[in-house]
Amino acid sequence: MASGAGIFYDGTSSERHQVTVDAAPDALRIQGADGTLLAQWPYNELQHLSAADDVLRLSRINSPTLARLEVRDPALALAIDDLAGTVDRTGRTARRARHKVIGWAFAATVSLVLVALFGLPALVERLTPLIPLSLEQRLGAAVEPQVRAMLNTGSSGTAFECGTAEAEKAGRAALDKLLSLMEGAASLPIPLKTVVVRRRDSNAIALPGGYVYVFNGLVTKAETPDELASVIAHEIGHVAHRDGTRSLLQAAGLSFLFGMLLGDFTGGGLAVIAVKTIVESSYSRDVEASADLYAVRLMARIGGDPRALGAILERIQGAIEPGVKIFLDHPETKARVAAINAATDVLQFERKPLLDAAEWRALRRVCG
Ligand SMILES: [Zn+2]
Repeated sequence: MASGAGIFYDGTSSERHQVTVDAAPDALRIQGADGTLLAQWPYNELQHLSAADDVLRLSRINSPTLARLEVRDPALALAIDDLAGTVDRTGRTARRARHKVIGWAFAATVSLVLVALFGLPALVERLTPLIPLSLEQRLGAAVEPQVRAMLNTGSSGTAFECGTAEAEKAGRAALDKLLSLMEGAASLPIPLKTVVVRRRDSNAIALPGGYVYVFNGLVTKAETPDELASVIAHEIGHVAHRDGTRSLLQAAGLSFLFGMLLGDFTGGGLAVIAVKTIVESSYSRDVEASADLYAVRLMARIGGDPRALGAILERIQGAIEPGVKIFLDHPETKARVAAINAATDVLQFERKPLLDAAEWRALRRVCG
């Protein structure tokens, strides 16, 4: 509770009372030098009277007397200002803007100190798990339309997203069946938003916030539901490990860190960096390996074939367009496949078909 000195005129005499003013939660309490309560004014009855810049002069609305109070202590005046809706001496908006600038400066300072202490990569490694998922979802929602726009080349006339036309709905339904199986087993803290998009390259992308894009080229290259599911499982691994968010932080560095700290992704520059990072940069071998391992375990959990990931990796090697290299961007495919198979060898699980033949046929035509 803020309190401080004030000058009180009781309205019945011309006497100046040196008082103590307490900004209590419910009302302003005005006490004389001897501790007697001279007045108690509820905040919603405060009236601001004009005064010099450094004086907050108040009276009580509808008061029968002309009692008034003057406060010169800036901290106390600010506290009263904040508690009383009817009092807006300094201009709330201006103050908020000022607070925001102070917030940014503080965040910048803290970030610089932390970067100096840990170095950016280590700092990002520590910070990423601490970023609230709600913030990551907002980040994803901010960059998703731009990634979509960047990827949407040459599908003029048709929807970029497959599964909406009448002939494609059965395919989308089959995909949804597969996804609910996987999402149920993955138990992610955020919902997945998976779509098949009209692109010919065999690829898939996970964005921050649970967005997964599966390119149609991958759907047509997949020979079994398990192959397609295993690539989606790999992307779910990136979502679960928050790799997209981490790589954005690494790529964009401090400016993005500030934006993250303040939940402000509106800066145009940040969005450009984000989209370039997502579409063009590749993950390290370790990050890919742990997404592969995640995929192996998830596939086993749903009764799919974890080795299918290795099979499709080998088949689509080199079958992607330049520029977009997310899922398959490492020359060490053989090592990846060996690791996938080794991880599968130590698992015990029961195989079952993920989709029936008709569902799989429909899914392969999800883009018409
Ligand atoms: Zn990957």
